[in-house]
This record gives sequence, C-alpha cells and structure tokens, in this order.
Amino acid sequence: MSEKIALIEGAQEVMEAARFADTSAVSHRVRFDAALCTGCGLCAAFCPMEVIAVEDGAPVAVAEEACWGCETCSGQCPTHAIRIEAAPGAAEVAAEEPAEPLDEVVREQYRAWADTLTEVLGLRWHPVAVSLIGADEPLPAVPQPEERLRFCQALMAARRGRALMMPVNRHACPDGTSILGLSPIPAKLASGELYILFHKLDSVEAAQRMVAERPSLPPRSVRATVTCPLDDARCEAQVVAVIGTPEQMMWLSMATSYYTGHRHDFHASGYNAQCVETTLIPLTSGEINISFGCYGCRASSDVDDSLMMMGIPVALMDDVVRGLRELGKRAIPQSRDKVYLPPF
Ligand code: SF4
Ligand code: SF4
Repeated sequence: MSEKIALIEGAQEVMEAARFADTSAVSHRVRFDAALCTGCGLCAAFCPMEVIAVEDGAPVAVAEEACWGCETCSGQCPTHAIRIEAAPGAAEVAAEEPAEPLDEVVREQYRAWADTLTEVLGLRWHPVAVSLIGADEPLPAVPQPEERLRFCQALMAARRGRALMMPVNRHACPDGTSILGLSPIPAKLASGELYILFHKLDSVEAAQRMVAERPSLPPRSVRATVTCPLDDARCEAQVVAVIGTPEQMMWLSMATSYYTGHRHDFHASGYNAQCVETTLIPLTSGEINISFGCYGCRASSDVDDSLMMMGIPVALMDDVVRGLRELGKRAIPQSRDKVYLPPF
C-alpha cells in the first residue's frame, strides 16, 4: 500500500465527521415510488454520500441533509423508482461584499487571448477562464446556478457563454468537488468502492491507486469555482480550458513548444477529466495538459464525441498565444490546405 493511500484511509474518520457540515440546509428531497421499487438496494449501494439505507426491504433516505442531488441513485435504479427534487435557494451563500471587479487591463488581455485562440484555431466555442476562489478570498460578483451542477457542466456552460460561480452548495458531484478542494472526499470514493460498483476498475487496489495518483487540493481550501467565457472573465483565472477537436489540440500543443521545441508529457486517464486533467494538473504542474474527457462529463454534459480538452496554466498563455499567432501566419493555413494521398 502506498503512503498516499494510507494517508487517504487515515483521513476517512475526519471526512466522515465533516460530511454533514457541508450542507447548511436541506436542498434536495429523495422520493421513492413504492409501487415501482423492488427493494433491490442498488440506490443505497451507489449513493456516494450514504444518504439511503434499506430498512425492512425498502429504501429510506436516512440522511437527506447530506444529499448532493448528484442523481447517481436514480441513474442506477432499474425501475425508475427514485425522484430527486431540488429545493432552489435552500442553501444560499450569505450576502457579503463582493470582490473588486477584474481589472480592465486584465480583461482586455483575456479578450485578446480569446480572439487569437478562436480565430487561429477556428474554435466553435469560447475558451473558458477557470478560477478557484481560495477559502479566505472574497467571492466575485458572478451569478450562481439555481440548482446544483457538476463542475464539468459549468465548464461546458461557460464555453457557450454563461459565467457561473459555484460554492460547495451549488456543486452536484461529490468526487470533483472534493478533488477541487471544496469538500472532504466521501469514504466510498476514497476507498475505491464506488469505482468497483460502476465496473470502471478491476480491483479496489487499482481504484485506490487511481485516486492516489490524481492531484487534489486540501478539503475546504477552495470556497467556490468560477467558470467564465475567457472573453467575459469576472475574476483572475488560473487555467484556461479549451474544448476542441484533436487537430485544434495538436496546434495548441505545437504553439506551446514553438519557442522551445519541448515535447509534452500529458497526464490523462479517462477518470475525472475536467476537474483533474483539464484544471488541477495544469494548475499544480504549471504545464499544459490534455484530456479525452471522462465517462462522467460525457454522460452529464453536451460535450460531443469528437471533442477533447486542454488546460493551459494562465502563466503560459502569453507564450502559447504568441506561438499560435506565428503558426497561424503560414503553418496552419498551409497544412490545412494540403492533403497527402497515397499514389493510387
Ligand atoms: S434502486 Fe430503485 S428499485 Fe432498487 S431499492 Fe432503490 S428505489 Fe427501489
Ligand atoms: S442524489 Fe446523489 S447524494 Fe442524493 S441520494 Fe441520490 S446518490 Fe445520494
């Protein structure tokens, strides 16, 4: 067992104790249809927050206040016997003085970056400015969604032009939220148990290794995620996420190497695409990273099968954009015009 896995296991008690402190009010109701329910218990087994228990052969919401509205239970129910009802506004963040608006010089720079990325690559969607607001930082003036969303859903909304801020009580994915430092990791995810139930990994050991090898931020070190179109950012970004085709990613990768010739060591897995691969790896490594998406974001957002993602640390953006402009003068248009066919 690796040291990292032992640390995760050791932290479980603390995380369990903190489970109920993350939601200050009930924001979801879990409804079961007794006429449809067979009492199979799958909902209880799959709920990452241990909201549901089976009592006398029937599921019961024993800890409704801990429900995140992630709909894992209803997604697994073979008879569609579960309905999760959201109660919008039940857990608002207390009103407070918002952070200073983003400096106009920075906004202008972000717009210029967005223009170059969009024009040279021919992006269909906005590049996205991703910001993680630290626990002791003021919140920027950005709208919150009415209902809980997954981080990947917010990122996809931003590529369509919608800026969103999500404190922990607006996040719907306990896994991504713990990775991004908004909450402790639920025990069933840290232990690997859920990944085995989903048939996504061969063994508990493999699941624990996958969890241990991904970066994560300390619980509650982040108070909100903010995802904005890069050309309409409301606060300083740490990472720029680009959603595009493999060909567009190829040019971005080359733009990053344009002045240095360095090749890239990408870190991708198919698990935790937007939170880990597109956001945290660029943030913690200072290097660009690609993602093929994960089964979670592909199921819960409108990301097309033909698309993949790249996360670019903001500190690299100047060089990436300069390199891309140079490639855009001749290399990209010329290459896109050429088709080499075998001689038959
Ligand atoms: S998964 Fe559906 S059918 Fe099975 S116990 Fe839960 S509600 Fe009932
Ligand atoms: S919506 Fe998610 S957290 Fe709530 S009961 Fe269902 S699986 Fe558990």
